[in-house]
Amino acid sequence: MPASVDRERLAALLARETAESAARNPRSQAAYQRAEHLFGRVPMTWMNKSAGAFPLYLDGARGARVSDIDGHEYVDFCLGDTGAMAGHSPEVVAEAVEQRYRAKGGATAMLPTEDAEWVGAELTRRFGLPRWSFSLTATDANRWAIRLARAVTGRQKILVNSYSYHGSVDESLIVVGPDGNGATRPGNVGAPCDVTLTSRVAEFNDLEGLERELAYGDVAAVLMEPALTNIGIVLPEPGYLDGVRELTRRHGTLLINDETHTFSAGPGGATGFYGLSPDILTIGKAIGGGIPAGGYGLSAELADRLLGRSDLDLVDMGGVGGTLAGNALSVAAMRATLEHVLTDEAFARMCALSERFEAGVAAGIAKHDLPWSVSRLGARSEYRFANPAPRNGTESAASADAELEDFLHLFMSNRGILMTPFHNMALMCPATTEADVDTHTELFAQALDELAG
Ligand code: PMP
Repeated sequence: MPASVDRERLAALLARETAESAARNPRSQAAYQRAEHLFGRVPMTWMNKSAGAFPLYLDGARGARVSDIDGHEYVDFCLGDTGAMAGHSPEVVAEAVEQRYRAKGGATAMLPTEDAEWVGAELTRRFGLPRWSFSLTATDANRWAIRLARAVTGRQKILVNSYSYHGSVDESLIVVGPDGNGATRPGNVGAPCDVTLTSRVAEFNDLEGLERELAYGDVAAVLMEPALTNIGIVLPEPGYLDGVRELTRRHGTLLINDETHTFSAGPGGATGFYGLSPDILTIGKAIGGGIPAGGYGLSAELADRLLGRSDLDLVDMGGVGGTLAGNALSVAAMRATLEHVLTDEAFARMCALSERFEAGVAAGIAKHDLPWSVSRLGARSEYRFANPAPRNGTESAASADAELEDFLHLFMSNRGILMTPFHNMALMCPATTEADVDTHTELFAQALDELAG
């Protein structure tokens, strides 16, 4: 907990902002109170993770702007926690969706469209892996990648980094416990079995710890983000990612890069940015421009090994795939998004904006000499209540401060800026402007001034 924040002042400021949020959002509050037929009053239970007493209700969204049903407009740095990294409803994606759904017709017909090969080729150009298959979510891409890795290696376990997040994938809900051994992640609801039966865990940036776990010889795949993004941004130290690749190869373990969030690093994600060569790459969220879409890419060697195994049922009851996966609508949306919106040029602009955002936050932190840090991965920046920046997930988890986070989120949303719930994260989209970033910088400085008293 940051010593230099006065807890009494913080509690008072949080109460003030919570009251202000309730006063300015009567329609959202009423809609929430009426929602008796929803489990937890929300369409998905995590929507209760809002800084105020109720979630803001979406009215509409376009580009980097969101409006709520009380008539407020926001600069959206949340961007659906990456699902809207292309900006909300970009015109070309809207046209492609309209064309597929209305003009031609046929969202889901159990038949391929020619767009799919275009998308596969483009993902190959960006990420290097040459054989692609689609899903609707990143979670499913990870689930199916894990199954394929188990099948091809004949090994049972998956290794993830402590406090990483890969969706609601059973095998990934493991952390390094206080005694240094793997333990279920706090909050793992209804686990099918003790997670240490299916999984191993290491700390990010710790090659020795990784090697110790791989030496058991039972790890089918390491599933990792090249930089952690779900417990703040934890960047890889020099040599770490090369070391992971070398160790996984040496121990006969496949390497899966989950690029769902690290896609922010550039057009080819962190894999392209750092020049990595995983065996499998998974992705979801942003690539469909807001239409559900995800996928996984395989190395040619791995794809050939899998297809050569006549004992593996990849066509019928194999436990890999979904009826709507690769449907014509999401494939059309992926094509439009990759071809026209999240282009190489757009990434250059988004990364420059993120640098500007990072500099603004760093200046605020420096002015008040706070023990906080800010990290950036391409178009994505996040500040954390720790300095120096945490080196791994466990350190980063220890620096969480829910009250402080809620205050900052509410201070922003009451003044027209949306940050990402669960994070102090800001993502740039092609429609974000320098003025948007500067508005955040000014408000962040004001919030810190108020905290300082
Ligand atoms: N992988 C990573 C790295 C993620 O951050 C997330 C979600 N935050 C997922 C996978 C799962 O995505 P989804 O919930 O859309 O399936």
